[in-house]
Amino acid sequence: MTLTARATSLSNPPLSGNIHADRSSSEALAVWGGNHVVTYENTFKEIEDAKPEIAVLAIGATEQHSTHLPIGTDYLMGGYLSRKVAEALDAYLLPVLPFSNSQEHQDFFGTVWLQPTTLRQVVMDVCRALKHHGIRKVLVMECHGGNWILKPTIREINLNDPEMMVILAGPGTVTAKLQGAKIELHCTTAETALMMHVFPELVKELPEDFQPEVGREYLDYVGMRAVAPTGVWGTPNAATPESGRESVEKWVKPVVDYARETFARLEEIRRKADKK
Ligand SMILES: [Zn+2]
Repeated sequence: MTLTARATSLSNPPLSGNIHADRSSSEALAVWGGNHVVTYENTFKEIEDAKPEIAVLAIGATEQHSTHLPIGTDYLMGGYLSRKVAEALDAYLLPVLPFSNSQEHQDFFGTVWLQPTTLRQVVMDVCRALKHHGIRKVLVMECHGGNWILKPTIREINLNDPEMMVILAGPGTVTAKLQGAKIELHCTTAETALMMHVFPELVKELPEDFQPEVGREYLDYVGMRAVAPTGVWGTPNAATPESGRESVEKWVKPVVDYARETFARLEEIRRKADKK
């Protein structure tokens, strides 16, 4: 089925947003051994027959990424990385959500955003639809920092419905650990490097590195443009395509490991609770 899906995507490019979707498949399969992934490129029958236990929903964004990266950076990388994760987990890969909470970038042309409560509702609706088909494990991949509403949303779904196991993981959590104390918030070394590696044709001349004198909370007080006029908060100039290639591995494996461990642990906890 995977082969069929891939052959289809190569010979018949999807309409939009996933023109590079075929790039990731074979490497991921070789490294992490997944082989029953189904995606939005499959038919309903193929998905039904595959009986996926896990769904992967990446949350992207449509927001400024300075003058060197496209406004769809989080959407594009979300598609690339979530496919790798879904392949490793034999999951059902959903289309990337192209919009989320990007209010802090509203002063940069072309940025669009959802209200936090809209995002909350979308995630809840998607989980409800998945449950209708018996898919109770959902990995929500946060591919854009700042969707603070996701944590309480997921908490609410899980605690209100013990049959659901919705977990959250994403580059934000993983790259924060990799970066140590350095404040890299937007158009970072890692993000720029990933784009150089995966979508080199979309990366333009790099702007200067920039470190605002204020903390992240200023995004909530005045927005990005007032404190970081070029839209950069970090050191994109330290990026290389090679480090982008390494980032994919550093990034995907911890998310996959986290999802496997957490779903297994949750099943164990539920089993014990059911016995009581
Ligand atoms: Zn981004």
